[in-house]
Amino acid sequence: MTRLSKSKLTMAAQCPRKLWLHTHNRVVATENPQLMRIAERGTEFGDRCRTLFPGGILIDTLDSDEAASRTRKLMDSMNAFNARPIYEAAFIYKDVVVRVDIMTPVVQGEELAWKLIEIKSGNSRESNGRLKHKYILDAAIQQYVVTNCDIPVVETHLGTPNPDFVYQSMGSYEGVLVTEKINSVIEPLLPSIPPLIGLASPLVECSPAPAASINSHCSGCEFVKHCTNAELTPDEQFRVPTWFLASSPNAVRVQSLMPVSRNLADIPEAKLTAPMHKAMRRIALGEMDTYIDPDLRVFLAEQPPVRWFIDFEFMGSPLPLWQGTSPNQVIPFQFSMHKWHAGVVDTITHSEFISDTSEDPRPSLIKHLIAAYDESGPIYSWHGKAIEGPILERLADLVGGLERKILLEMASNCKRDDLLPHFNNHFYTLGMEGWSLKQVAKHFLNPNPYDILETQNGVDAMNDYEELLSAQDLEKRAVIKKNLLKYCEVDTFTLIAIWKKLEVTRTETTL
Ligand code: SF4
Repeated sequence: MTRLSKSKLTMAAQCPRKLWLHTHNRVVATENPQLMRIAERGTEFGDRCRTLFPGGILIDTLDSDEAASRTRKLMDSMNAFNARPIYEAAFIYKDVVVRVDIMTPVVQGEELAWKLIEIKSGNSRESNGRLKHKYILDAAIQQYVVTNCDIPVVETHLGTPNPDFVYQSMGSYEGVLVTEKINSVIEPLLPSIPPLIGLASPLVECSPAPAASINSHCSGCEFVKHCTNAELTPDEQFRVPTWFLASSPNAVRVQSLMPVSRNLADIPEAKLTAPMHKAMRRIALGEMDTYIDPDLRVFLAEQPPVRWFIDFEFMGSPLPLWQGTSPNQVIPFQFSMHKWHAGVVDTITHSEFISDTSEDPRPSLIKHLIAAYDESGPIYSWHGKAIEGPILERLADLVGGLERKILLEMASNCKRDDLLPHFNNHFYTLGMEGWSLKQVAKHFLNPNPYDILETQNGVDAMNDYEELLSAQDLEKRAVIKKNLLKYCEVDTFTLIAIWKKLEVTRTETTL
């Protein structure tokens, strides 16, 4: 019989088909580097948190039976006088295996009981203030298994990064973890665990795949293209698949159209209301290759001659790296800025900065940024409202006087001059699966400037930067630095390249 883990049970609770696909047909998943990075950071955070419960013993084997046997022996040898914390304690009940991040002893008179701590590296609460359901379900599964192994559990806690923690002295993470007793929240979930095991057990065996049920629970699921039948077979030659309308095949409006046809060319025009969608249908029919809404042309033509373009690379970690920073705080370590003075003779200049020391990158970055921005003007980016603008506002919090004033002006311009909203309803070219800058560049620019890069995306940049900080070899450091600088430079230069190409592209824009 295949063992069930906590993550398999939570997967079944989210969607039985997801557990089935994860077990039997993982090859149809679409990799998500961002989620992989979050998982890695979570493991590092959990490992570091052990030091906050000193004197413990790590069950350091991945073999579940061996781990459970070692845990049992260890617990049998402990009493109220010699008990110590146990890290990664393993328990098996009804073929469900759990590994508890930290078990700490609770001594009551001469009796020994235990406190379970489930550690997560993300915020504990949803935006509505409620504890995240997936976290409390995780903890409920643990408590169910451990108590059924006849271990006296007096409390179950959720441990997450403390948002109020400010890293003060190197290597000291006292206070980085905040724990919250969640027994009253998980108790109502306990009766649902046996039926959940009953649901999950056949799914990891040879049962047929449950039918897909496309819903809000599919958001971010790695199997969404497979379940929505979005992947094209090799013999299908659609110019524009229907799901490209929404850049995600599980978007509600796309789901209502997919059963009509997976080929946008076969969707009746009357079923489409947005001008962009009608334009995409014409592209699907081969009537044109690119749609540029006149509003976009007007917007670009009306911009003043001095134009700035900015991009940051940044990182966030549940374990802060620099003094004065907090868990999961966004810390920019690099920027690229292009200044395009448009006129009869165009001039384009470039400024850049990357921190390559173990110091907090922000003070040097601020100096270089302010020196680079030598003339007021609009600052364009591809996510200025959500990313670059807020980063500049946080940088302004670190300084005063004129520097603060300049950074706040930059932030305000950046939020105002975000190019993304001007494109995602006004521009489409054949092949685009969505409106990321990389998708526009890939299908509109020839050659695609991203093709030659070693660092390919923001997650790569974060990983490369961490490698840069730890690398000793000078040659290796130089290569990583060069790759990072080039990547960020391409991000801003691409904005100009797209803009310039739009100015000279003659295409039909009347619908
Ligand atoms: S895409 Fe939706 S239906 Fe398919 S496995 Fe994921 S959650 Fe389940």
